[in-house]
Amino acid sequence: MTVMVPSRTPAHSITPGRQALDSALHQLAQAAEGLGLDEGLHAMLATPRRSLTVSVPVRREDGRMDVVQGYRVQHNITRGPAKGGIRFHPGTDLDEVTALAMWMTWKCALVGIPYGGAKGGVAVDPGSLTTRELERLTRRYVNEILPLIGPEKDIPAPDVGTDEQTMAWIMDTYSVNAGYSVPGVVTGKPTTLGGSLGRAGATSRGVQIATMAALDRSGDGVTVAVQGFGKVGALAAQYLADAGCRVVAVSDVTGAIHSAAGLDVAAVRAWVAETGGVRGYREADALGLDELLELDVDVLVPAALEGVLTAANAPRVKARLIVEGANGPTTPEADAILADAGTVIVPDILANAGGVIVSYLEWVQNMQAYSWSAGEVDVRLRDLMEGAFGEVKSLAADRGVTLRDAAHLIGVGRVADAHRMRGLYP
Ligand code: NAD
Repeated sequence: MTVMVPSRTPAHSITPGRQALDSALHQLAQAAEGLGLDEGLHAMLATPRRSLTVSVPVRREDGRMDVVQGYRVQHNITRGPAKGGIRFHPGTDLDEVTALAMWMTWKCALVGIPYGGAKGGVAVDPGSLTTRELERLTRRYVNEILPLIGPEKDIPAPDVGTDEQTMAWIMDTYSVNAGYSVPGVVTGKPTTLGGSLGRAGATSRGVQIATMAALDRSGDGVTVAVQGFGKVGALAAQYLADAGCRVVAVSDVTGAIHSAAGLDVAAVRAWVAETGGVRGYREADALGLDELLELDVDVLVPAALEGVLTAANAPRVKARLIVEGANGPTTPEADAILADAGTVIVPDILANAGGVIVSYLEWVQNMQAYSWSAGEVDVRLRDLMEGAFGEVKSLAADRGVTLRDAAHLIGVGRVADAHRMRGLYP
């Protein structure tokens, strides 16, 4: 059997989705080589188990009908039900969703939760729709992917451009079709519908735990820049500030802001809640979006989209520690440049795993019709994050590889073991 790993194409000639998938396949190929996987198993892991493309018609307020493309990819379900977020973003495509689903597979295996990996996406700008249009779009998309999802099959969650409200509509649409309430079909729901305490801030809390573990000292005097001030980035900035770090710059699609003395993150969050973006925040200077990535800070947290650290800007990145709140922010070319420069990268499948960890805890609570206190959830999150960080760090030291390579060796290795134990049907 031949492994269909594409040749690497110059970054400027491919779509961002293809670039993300190339990165994921490159990382898998490295792990497959390190683990000595046979070609057949490598080929299985390089291709998604199921991919569904759907057309989603949306009735607009003025009576027109638009049709947008939606996707759900289950990359792997060997260790348990598929798990992964749903993204609403105009640039999303099947390649991007496939890459994100693959990363979910390794992430769940790495942190030791019994899930496979999935992802969904709709190629739409949610900001261009009214709330009612967004609700109709969400419900129709869910209806189209209904055969794939379910609490024992595939459990969506929020990602870029979706939130608790989106999850509530998904839970309702699924439940109406089932004829009874099925809270376990999605995670990241409002707590009134069975959402877990601690889920809203879980990814960011995990980023904070991973950052502090990597720093291995108190946050006092540590300077931080955060790219992306959405669900993950804003609370990551807040929790890092709470841990004593000085958050000197943050950005979102509206712009970037900088204050050498440190931003009052709570005040920036209030400004964003009021105005819709960080731009214009008065107690800071404006900064170019790209400049933020190259600031002279101790820690850089990319928490927006894929492919932002590339061969072009990696040589100018000054942060000594990069903690990947986003999925796939660093291309393999940038990874090599940064590794040569001695920059430590806590990779996405470890750094942002807090979200799926608490999603798992939410699902367990739903399946047991039980709920845990915020404190219990936080203890379990911390245990799983610190446990995984310790394993990755020690394997990286033993094998003399980067944290990303070590994380993939563990994650891919566990999925490969599960395949070997189950055997191939028929
Ligand atoms: P979000 O939609 O809530 O926020 C995204 C943020 O990125 C927004 O502030 C947006 O303005 C900003 N952004 C977009 N393009 C930018 C650019 N060029 N420069 C600066 N900022 C830009 O999404 P999110 O849920 O916070 O997800 C962010 C990343 O974290 C994604 O890669 C996602 O896959 C990953 N992630 C999210 C979760 C989760 O629980 N939500 C879990 C794990 C990983």
